[in-house]
Amino acid sequence: MRRGVTWLPALAILPLFGVVAAFGFAPESNTENVDIRHVVEDIALRIPTVQVQPSTQHFWREERIRRGDTVATIMLRLGVEDQEAMSYLLQARGVRSLYRLIPGRAVRAVTTGDGRLVELSYFNADGKRLLVKRTEGGFSTTENSPLLEHRTMQSSGSIEYSLFAATDAAGLHDDVAIQLADIFSSDVDFNRDIRKGDRFLVVYQANYSDGEFLGVGRVIAAEFINQGKIHRAVYFQDDRGRGGYYAPDGKNMRKAFLRSPLAFSRITSRYSNKRFHPVLRKWRAHRGIDYGAPTGTPVRATASGRVKFAGRKGGYGKLISLRHANGYGTRYAHLSRFAKGIRRGARVEQGQVIGYVGKTGLANGPHLHYEFLVNGKQRNPLKLALPPGPPITPELRDAFEATAEQLLARLDLLGDTNLASLD
Ligand SMILES: [Zn+2]
Repeated sequence: MRRGVTWLPALAILPLFGVVAAFGFAPESNTENVDIRHVVEDIALRIPTVQVQPSTQHFWREERIRRGDTVATIMLRLGVEDQEAMSYLLQARGVRSLYRLIPGRAVRAVTTGDGRLVELSYFNADGKRLLVKRTEGGFSTTENSPLLEHRTMQSSGSIEYSLFAATDAAGLHDDVAIQLADIFSSDVDFNRDIRKGDRFLVVYQANYSDGEFLGVGRVIAAEFINQGKIHRAVYFQDDRGRGGYYAPDGKNMRKAFLRSPLAFSRITSRYSNKRFHPVLRKWRAHRGIDYGAPTGTPVRATASGRVKFAGRKGGYGKLISLRHANGYGTRYAHLSRFAKGIRRGARVEQGQVIGYVGKTGLANGPHLHYEFLVNGKQRNPLKLALPPGPPITPELRDAFEATAEQLLARLDLLGDTNLASLD
């Protein structure tokens, strides 16, 4: 009897209940939900606009995206047979990220027994949860940031041909391989030094939400055995939140200078004491390195320092000149424009975008002309032994050792397990 009383107020807002129930999942054992369903069916007869089917049984399905899939093929596998839904998915602005399909990722749908779409959800390429829902007026889409769960993962492998082939074989995400190569790039040339039998161990974070793998986070510890030599690195963040990779003894894994001021580029003209200048059409020294890249490509400061000059300067065109510690300097020429805040005296961090590739000054096409100076004289950075980045400071030593100890213990354990499995 009490239950009847409870439902009486609900009858007063029946249309609302109709909507809610139509979106819910198929009720199973919960008797209260069953009551709601019965109420809805009653209303459906009286309020045809809600268009609740005689049976409000809803089906939940999940499909993994396969290579070559399209939204249409996935909908087919999900059992969605709904023209209205399909035309919405084709036209709505908010659902565009659904079309960037990531193989292996799940698409979940709730449909009615006859294939009408009630709800569709997908973790898109930006790691957002895209939710398409049937509403009274058609469909609506929302995108929200899911609660992330960070899982610590570990993996190991042995190299047969290349690092990428080995990480692939170990089922590792490419992002992990890229980070691995980057972490050890000062010590190992992954194009030339790799030998069959080299091995790696890696501990990294992965982002999950609702059981769904959303992507790789940061590598927090790694070991790379190259030609019998063991290289180890752990991630450590200082009290100002700046993180980096350090060897177990606290040495910085990075050099004080990045290898290249551009993330992806090819060298189009090397450092030389004599070359034929394409614009001046005469022989002269090229005391810098040219990197071919399209106009607008971000240019990074190769080391931390201060802006010494930012402006136009003759054949250099738009030029940024940086002053670094210990008598080092760098120049970035032919820029199309400067990044915000780049002016004389400004402080820049290693890797910070300071400007954009262009073809100002004496340049026959867009490229970056990069100069490396030691005590005011141009030198070839590709031939110099570059100084290491700053090591762990004495003040941070204890904190670093506490972090490193745990991570190194993990690597030890992972290494042991790995050897045991080879026995
Ligand atoms: Zn040049």
